[in-house]
Amino acid sequence: MSTAKAACTRKSSRVAIVGGGLAGMVAADALASRGFEDLHVFDMGRRATGGRASVRRTQEGYFFNHGLQFLRLGSPKVSSLAAEWVRDGALMEWTGRHGRLDASTGNFTSRSDCEPGAHPGFCSFLEPGKLYVNGGLTEHLRRKNEPGVRVELGCKVSAIDGSGGEGGAAGPWRLRGSKFGEPVHTFGDFDAVVFTDAMAGRKGSPGHVLLNGEVELGSLFPVLDEVRVKPVFSLMVAYARGDVSCDFDAASVVGSEAFQFVSAENAKPNYDAVGVDCDSFVALSTFERAEDLLERHPQQKNFKFVEQTKDYLDPIQADLLADFESLLGCEGKVPVYAKAQRWGGAFYSSGGGGVSRGLKSYVDEGRMIALCGDYCCETSTAENAVLSGLDAAERLAGMLP
Ligand SMILES: Cc1cc2nc3c(=O)[nH]c(=O)nc-3n(C[C@H](O)[C@H](O)[C@H](O)COP(=O)(O)OP(=O)(O)OC[C@H]3O[C@@H](n4cnc5c(N)ncnc54)[C@H](O)[C@@H]3O)c2cc1C
Repeated sequence: MSTAKAACTRKSSRVAIVGGGLAGMVAADALASRGFEDLHVFDMGRRATGGRASVRRTQEGYFFNHGLQFLRLGSPKVSSLAAEWVRDGALMEWTGRHGRLDASTGNFTSRSDCEPGAHPGFCSFLEPGKLYVNGGLTEHLRRKNEPGVRVELGCKVSAIDGSGGEGGAAGPWRLRGSKFGEPVHTFGDFDAVVFTDAMAGRKGSPGHVLLNGEVELGSLFPVLDEVRVKPVFSLMVAYARGDVSCDFDAASVVGSEAFQFVSAENAKPNYDAVGVDCDSFVALSTFERAEDLLERHPQQKNFKFVEQTKDYLDPIQADLLADFESLLGCEGKVPVYAKAQRWGGAFYSSGGGGVSRGLKSYVDEGRMIALCGDYCCETSTAENAVLSGLDAAERLAGMLP
């Protein structure tokens, strides 16, 4: 046990955290450091925690940060945590060739030469000296807090039932759902539950949760109904070394209908592909291209979620690959690996009342249910996910024995 933990009062409450993305793992870490020893994180991800901050290691040995790219450090709280994470090796600074790629001319302008205010979108994350590449941060938080924080992967929570009566009575809460695709499974009883994903309030989404068999979480937390989703697609692609000439490491793309950001994965300090010598990239679609692709390849049919099978993704991947080859001028080169990924809830926007009141998390004190995640904040960023997870943990810690 760390000195910080030993010094604080032990707390006996049993807390469930639904979602092992940044917000959930930061909340678990913050609760653990406040003396909570019976913490359970459930994530539907099958291989690792991370959510939108997860990394993809393919069977062939390729490695991609296909979600979160940069953690921006605007708040002192996050800066001091980030400094700790960098010391632990969980975040890494990346000082490469970063800037803006003009798709219409093919010209790359390094960030220092971009005019102030002329770098929209992802370029705003490209702060020299403040670039932190996700190196499996949530997995670091999981390892750091074992065994006090138990993380259960492959667990999709779909029901939360209270013992006390109708319409969302107080806990203790019994969580149920499916584990690795099996039918209903009881995940245990908890004094408090923290939801970290807006999907909890979204019918037809894989993370949808009903309270006492009938109550939508949105009726308890209106913010869930106010959240708007902005999907994107990532293209992960690798070429034999030398097949693609690229004079940047990460670029915010302007003038492209297809992409808003491209990074050269093998230029990242945490690139650790095993035994493969290649040039690999992650390209993030524009919101418009994602909408267009989703119109042709919907992510829901008859209120049912469409899985990202090979049949579903192949035509999307072919479209994105053609756009990518035209962007980098490598038409005719055959990639050694290519895969598309749908991020149905890539970014959120919330015009909700909570945001205007400066709230970063929501806690129903009577029911001991909390919400956190980037969608609770004004902008959908990793920094806000961290702040939101911290906020929920601080508030709950003050309420729970
Ligand atoms: C492609 C991409 C690039 C990005 N790049 C950047 C960037 O450079 N900088 C930046 O600041 N932000 C970036 N973002 C946004 C950033 O990744 C998110 O703001 C942040 O990771 C959100 O963390 P979170 O914990 O709030 O949510 P999530 O990461 O979405 O975590 C929620 C977790 O809950 C799980 N879950 C949901 N429902 C259930 C359920 N019912 N049962 C069990 N588990 C459940 C999900 O599987 C998921 O793991 C990017 C996002 C994407 C998609």
